[in-house]
Amino acid sequence: MGDLADQPCIICVAITGSLPTKENNPAVPISVAEQIESTQEAFEAGATIVHCHVRDDQGKPTSDPDRFAQLKHGLEQHCPGMIIQLSTGGRSGAGQARGGMLPLAPDMASLAVGSNNFPTRVYENTPDLVDWLASEMRTYDVKPQIEAFDLSHILQAAIMFKDGRIKDRPYVQFVMGVKNAMPADRDVFDYYVHTVKRLFGEDVPWCAAGIGASQIRLNEWAISSGGHCRTGLEDNVRIDRDTLAPSNAALVRCAADICRKFDRPVATWQQARQILGLRMPATA
Ligand SMILES: [Zn+2]
Repeated sequence: MGDLADQPCIICVAITGSLPTKENNPAVPISVAEQIESTQEAFEAGATIVHCHVRDDQGKPTSDPDRFAQLKHGLEQHCPGMIIQLSTGGRSGAGQARGGMLPLAPDMASLAVGSNNFPTRVYENTPDLVDWLASEMRTYDVKPQIEAFDLSHILQAAIMFKDGRIKDRPYVQFVMGVKNAMPADRDVFDYYVHTVKRLFGEDVPWCAAGIGASQIRLNEWAISSGGHCRTGLEDNVRIDRDTLAPSNAALVRCAADICRKFDRPVATWQQARQILGLRMPATA
Protein backbone atom coordinates (compact mmCIF):
# COMPACT_ATOMS: atom_id res chain seq x y z
CA MET A 1 0.00 0.00 0.00
CA GLY A 2 2.94 2.34 0.58
CA ASP A 3 3.47 4.94 3.24
CA LEU A 4 0.28 6.76 4.21
CA ALA A 5 2.32 9.89 4.91
CA ASP A 6 2.95 10.14 1.15
CA GLN A 7 -0.73 9.79 0.22
CA PRO A 8 -2.73 12.99 0.59
CA CYS A 9 -6.38 12.31 1.41
CA ILE A 10 -9.12 14.09 -0.52
CA ILE A 11 -11.99 15.16 1.72
CA CYS A 12 -15.32 15.54 -0.07
CA VAL A 13 -18.09 17.48 1.66
CA ALA A 14 -21.68 16.63 0.78
CA ILE A 15 -23.27 19.83 1.99
CA THR A 16 -27.04 19.47 1.53
CA GLY A 17 -28.40 16.32 -0.12
CA SER A 18 -32.05 15.77 -0.87
CA LEU A 19 -33.36 14.68 2.49
CA PRO A 20 -32.11 16.68 5.52
CA THR A 21 -34.18 19.66 6.60
CA LYS A 22 -33.67 22.58 8.99
CA GLU A 23 -35.87 20.61 11.40
CA ASN A 24 -33.29 17.79 11.36
CA ASN A 25 -30.44 20.24 11.83
CA PRO A 26 -30.63 24.04 11.42
CA ALA A 27 -27.08 24.02 10.01
CA VAL A 28 -28.17 22.24 6.80
CA PRO A 29 -27.66 24.83 4.04
CA ILE A 30 -30.78 25.08 1.86
CA SER A 31 -30.66 28.37 -0.09
CA VAL A 32 -27.86 28.95 -2.58
CA ALA A 33 -26.45 31.71 -0.35
CA GLU A 34 -26.35 29.35 2.62
CA GLN A 35 -24.78 26.64 0.49
CA ILE A 36 -22.00 28.94 -0.66
CA GLU A 37 -21.27 30.13 2.88
CA SER A 38 -21.26 26.59 4.27
CA THR A 39 -19.00 25.33 1.47
CA GLN A 40 -16.52 28.17 1.91
CA GLU A 41 -16.17 27.30 5.60
CA ALA A 42 -15.75 23.60 4.74
CA PHE A 43 -13.17 24.46 2.05
CA GLU A 44 -11.17 26.44 4.61
CA ALA A 45 -11.36 23.41 6.94
CA GLY A 46 -9.81 21.13 4.29
CA ALA A 47 -12.56 19.87 1.99
CA THR A 48 -11.53 19.96 -1.67
CA ILE A 49 -14.56 18.40 -3.36
CA VAL A 50 -18.05 19.77 -2.81
CA HIS A 51 -20.88 17.38 -3.67
CA CYS A 52 -23.96 19.45 -4.48
CA HIS A 53 -27.72 19.06 -4.61
CA VAL A 54 -30.02 22.06 -4.94
CA ARG A 55 -33.40 22.87 -3.40
CA ASP A 56 -36.29 24.99 -4.63
CA ASP A 57 -37.77 27.98 -2.77
CA GLN A 58 -39.82 25.60 -0.61
CA GLY A 59 -36.69 23.65 0.34
CA LYS A 60 -37.68 20.64 -1.76
CA PRO A 61 -35.10 18.81 -3.88
CA THR A 62 -34.97 19.84 -7.52
CA SER A 63 -32.74 19.28 -10.55
CA ASP A 64 -33.32 22.82 -11.83
CA PRO A 65 -30.29 23.67 -13.99
CA ASP A 66 -30.67 27.39 -13.22
CA ARG A 67 -30.35 26.71 -9.51
CA PHE A 68 -27.29 24.56 -10.14
CA ALA A 69 -25.84 27.33 -12.32
CA GLN A 70 -26.25 29.91 -9.54
CA LEU A 71 -24.60 27.60 -7.03
CA LYS A 72 -21.73 26.68 -9.35
CA HIS A 73 -21.08 30.33 -10.16
CA GLY A 74 -21.04 31.30 -6.48
CA LEU A 75 -18.74 28.44 -5.55
CA GLU A 76 -16.28 29.37 -8.29
CA GLN A 77 -16.17 32.92 -6.91
CA HIS A 78 -15.87 32.03 -3.22
CA CYS A 79 -13.97 28.72 -3.29
CA PRO A 80 -11.52 29.07 -6.20
CA GLY A 81 -9.87 25.76 -7.05
CA MET A 82 -12.35 23.59 -5.18
CA ILE A 83 -13.66 20.63 -7.22
CA ILE A 84 -17.36 21.04 -7.94
CA GLN A 85 -19.34 17.81 -8.17
CA LEU A 86 -23.05 17.99 -9.04
CA SER A 87 -25.43 15.19 -8.13
CA THR A 88 -27.41 13.33 -10.77
CA GLY A 89 -28.99 11.28 -7.98
CA GLY A 90 -32.54 10.08 -8.25
CA ARG A 91 -34.08 11.87 -5.30
CA SER A 92 -33.94 15.24 -7.05
CA GLY A 93 -35.79 14.43 -10.25
CA ALA A 94 -36.77 11.68 -12.62
CA GLY A 95 -35.47 10.46 -15.95
CA GLN A 96 -33.32 12.78 -18.01
CA ALA A 97 -34.15 15.73 -15.74
CA ARG A 98 -31.52 14.22 -13.45
CA GLY A 99 -28.82 15.19 -15.94
CA GLY A 100 -30.17 18.56 -17.07
CA MET A 101 -27.33 20.39 -15.32
CA LEU A 102 -24.51 18.48 -17.06
CA PRO A 103 -24.18 21.10 -19.86
CA LEU A 104 -22.88 23.40 -17.08
CA ALA A 105 -19.74 21.23 -17.36
CA PRO A 106 -18.90 20.88 -13.66
CA ASP A 107 -15.61 19.16 -12.81
CA MET A 108 -17.47 16.04 -11.70
CA ALA A 109 -20.92 14.54 -11.35
CA SER A 110 -22.16 11.54 -9.44
CA LEU A 111 -23.21 8.53 -11.53
CA ALA A 112 -25.15 5.53 -10.25
CA VAL A 113 -24.73 2.62 -12.67
CA GLY A 114 -27.25 0.19 -11.19
CA SER A 115 -30.33 -0.02 -9.00
CA ASN A 116 -30.82 -0.98 -5.37
CA ASN A 117 -33.21 -0.44 -2.49
CA PHE A 118 -33.29 2.78 -0.48
CA PRO A 119 -34.95 3.09 2.96
CA THR A 120 -38.48 3.51 1.59
CA ARG A 121 -38.23 3.00 -2.17
CA VAL A 122 -36.35 1.49 -5.07
CA TYR A 123 -33.41 3.58 -6.28
CA GLU A 124 -34.08 3.06 -9.95
CA ASN A 125 -31.28 3.52 -12.46
CA THR A 126 -32.38 1.90 -15.68
CA PRO A 127 -29.71 0.86 -18.22
CA ASP A 128 -30.87 3.43 -20.80
CA LEU A 129 -30.81 6.29 -18.29
CA VAL A 130 -27.36 5.26 -17.01
CA ASP A 131 -26.07 5.20 -20.61
CA TRP A 132 -27.58 8.60 -21.34
CA LEU A 133 -26.09 10.20 -18.21
CA ALA A 134 -22.69 8.68 -19.02
CA SER A 135 -22.86 9.97 -22.60
CA GLU A 136 -23.74 13.49 -21.41
CA MET A 137 -20.73 13.35 -19.06
CA ARG A 138 -18.48 12.41 -22.00
CA THR A 139 -19.97 15.18 -24.15
CA TYR A 140 -19.37 17.89 -21.55
CA ASP A 141 -16.11 16.43 -20.22
CA VAL A 142 -17.49 15.83 -16.73
CA LYS A 143 -15.67 13.21 -14.66
CA PRO A 144 -18.13 10.73 -13.19
CA GLN A 145 -17.91 9.56 -9.61
CA ILE A 146 -19.35 6.07 -9.53
CA GLU A 147 -21.69 5.67 -6.57
CA ALA A 148 -21.32 2.02 -5.57
CA PHE A 149 -24.27 1.04 -3.41
CA ASP A 150 -23.53 -2.60 -4.22
CA LEU A 151 -20.64 -4.76 -5.45
CA SER A 152 -22.31 -5.19 -8.85
CA HIS A 153 -22.03 -1.43 -9.43
CA ILE A 154 -18.22 -1.65 -9.28
CA LEU A 155 -18.16 -4.45 -11.85
CA GLN A 156 -20.62 -2.56 -14.05
CA ALA A 157 -18.32 0.47 -13.95
CA ALA A 158 -15.49 -1.79 -15.17
CA ILE A 159 -17.59 -2.95 -18.13
CA MET A 160 -18.48 0.66 -18.99
CA PHE A 161 -14.81 1.67 -18.78
CA LYS A 162 -13.77 -1.21 -21.01
CA ASP A 163 -16.31 -0.40 -23.73
CA GLY A 164 -15.65 3.36 -23.56
CA ARG A 165 -18.87 4.56 -21.94
CA ILE A 166 -16.69 5.81 -19.08
CA LYS A 167 -13.68 7.63 -20.47
CA ASP A 168 -11.07 7.43 -17.71
CA ARG A 169 -10.38 4.89 -14.97
CA PRO A 170 -13.51 5.03 -12.82
CA TYR A 171 -13.34 6.91 -9.52
CA VAL A 172 -15.53 4.72 -7.34
CA GLN A 173 -17.15 5.77 -4.09
CA PHE A 174 -18.45 2.96 -1.87
CA VAL A 175 -21.64 3.99 -0.11
CA MET A 176 -22.33 1.98 3.04
CA GLY A 177 -24.88 2.18 5.81
CA VAL A 178 -27.89 2.91 3.59
CA LYS A 179 -30.92 1.21 5.12
CA ASN A 180 -32.11 -1.71 2.96
CA ALA A 181 -28.92 -1.56 0.87
CA MET A 182 -25.28 -2.32 1.86
CA PRO A 183 -24.55 -1.99 5.58
CA ALA A 184 -21.19 -0.78 6.91
CA ASP A 185 -19.59 -4.23 6.85
CA ARG A 186 -15.81 -4.38 7.20
CA ASP A 187 -15.30 -7.58 5.20
CA VAL A 188 -17.34 -6.19 2.31
CA PHE A 189 -15.45 -2.91 2.51
CA ASP A 190 -12.12 -4.76 2.26
CA TYR A 191 -13.44 -6.73 -0.70
CA TYR A 192 -14.58 -3.51 -2.39
CA VAL A 193 -11.04 -2.14 -2.03
CA HIS A 194 -9.57 -5.39 -3.34
CA THR A 195 -11.98 -5.30 -6.29
CA VAL A 196 -11.29 -1.73 -7.44
CA LYS A 197 -7.54 -2.43 -7.27
CA ARG A 198 -7.90 -5.67 -9.20
CA LEU A 199 -10.06 -4.05 -11.89
CA PHE A 200 -8.48 -0.61 -12.20
CA GLY A 201 -4.93 -0.92 -10.83
CA GLU A 202 -3.23 -0.94 -7.45
CA ASP A 203 -2.82 2.85 -7.54
CA VAL A 204 -6.40 3.75 -8.51
CA PRO A 205 -7.92 6.40 -6.25
CA TRP A 206 -11.19 5.46 -4.53
CA CYS A 207 -13.46 6.92 -1.90
CA ALA A 208 -15.93 5.79 0.74
CA ALA A 209 -18.99 7.33 2.36
CA GLY A 210 -20.99 6.15 5.37
CA ILE A 211 -24.55 7.18 6.11
CA GLY A 212 -25.66 8.33 9.58
CA ALA A 213 -23.70 6.85 12.45
CA SER A 214 -21.45 4.95 10.05
CA GLN A 215 -20.01 8.17 8.57
CA ILE A 216 -17.10 8.45 10.99
CA ARG A 217 -16.46 4.69 10.86
CA LEU A 218 -16.18 4.81 7.06
CA ASN A 219 -13.92 7.87 7.33
CA GLU A 220 -11.60 5.83 9.56
CA TRP A 221 -11.67 2.75 7.32
CA ALA A 222 -11.02 4.74 4.14
CA ILE A 223 -8.33 7.01 5.56
CA SER A 224 -6.43 4.14 7.19
CA SER A 225 -6.65 2.04 3.99
CA GLY A 226 -5.27 4.69 1.63
CA GLY A 227 -8.62 5.81 0.21
CA HIS A 228 -10.34 9.18 0.09
CA CYS A 229 -13.29 10.12 2.24
CA ARG A 230 -16.60 11.91 2.25
CA THR A 231 -18.37 13.69 5.04
CA GLY A 232 -21.07 16.34 5.35
CA LEU A 233 -24.62 16.94 6.47
CA GLU A 234 -26.16 15.16 3.46
CA ASP A 235 -25.06 11.83 4.92
CA ASN A 236 -25.10 12.56 8.64
CA VAL A 237 -26.43 15.46 10.72
CA ARG A 238 -24.71 14.47 13.99
CA ILE A 239 -21.19 14.94 15.26
CA ASP A 240 -21.69 12.20 17.83
CA ARG A 241 -24.62 10.16 19.02
CA ASP A 242 -26.17 12.95 21.10
CA THR A 243 -25.02 16.14 19.37
CA LEU A 244 -26.05 17.78 16.13
CA ALA A 245 -23.13 18.82 13.95
CA PRO A 246 -22.83 22.62 14.14
CA SER A 247 -21.77 22.88 10.48
CA ASN A 248 -20.41 21.04 7.47
CA ALA A 249 -17.01 22.45 8.42
CA ALA A 250 -17.19 20.74 11.83
CA LEU A 251 -17.63 17.38 10.10
CA VAL A 252 -14.72 18.20 7.76
CA ARG A 253 -12.57 18.98 10.79
CA CYS A 254 -13.46 15.53 12.21
CA ALA A 255 -12.27 13.90 8.98
CA ALA A 256 -9.09 16.01 9.02
CA ASP A 257 -8.46 14.88 12.62
CA ILE A 258 -8.75 11.26 11.49
CA CYS A 259 -6.21 11.99 8.73
CA ARG A 260 -3.82 13.29 11.38
CA LYS A 261 -4.42 10.22 13.52
CA PHE A 262 -3.34 7.98 10.62
CA ASP A 263 -0.51 10.30 9.58
CA ARG A 264 -2.10 11.27 6.26
CA PRO A 265 -1.86 14.79 4.91
CA VAL A 266 -5.13 16.40 3.85
CA ALA A 267 -4.97 17.00 0.08
CA THR A 268 -4.85 20.56 -1.20
CA TRP A 269 -7.17 21.34 -4.11
CA GLN A 270 -4.17 21.21 -6.45
CA GLN A 271 -3.24 17.73 -5.17
CA ALA A 272 -6.86 16.60 -5.36
CA ARG A 273 -7.12 17.71 -9.00
CA GLN A 274 -3.87 15.97 -9.82
CA ILE A 275 -4.91 12.70 -8.11
CA LEU A 276 -8.23 12.69 -9.98
CA GLY A 277 -6.80 13.82 -13.32
CA LEU A 278 -8.88 17.02 -13.41
CA ARG A 279 -7.99 20.23 -15.24
CA MET A 280 -6.65 23.14 -13.24
CA PRO A 281 -9.15 26.02 -13.26
CA ALA A 282 -8.17 29.14 -15.18
CA THR A 283 -9.32 31.52 -12.45
CA ALA A 284 -7.90 30.03 -9.23
ZN1 LIG B 1 -25.81 13.32 -2.98
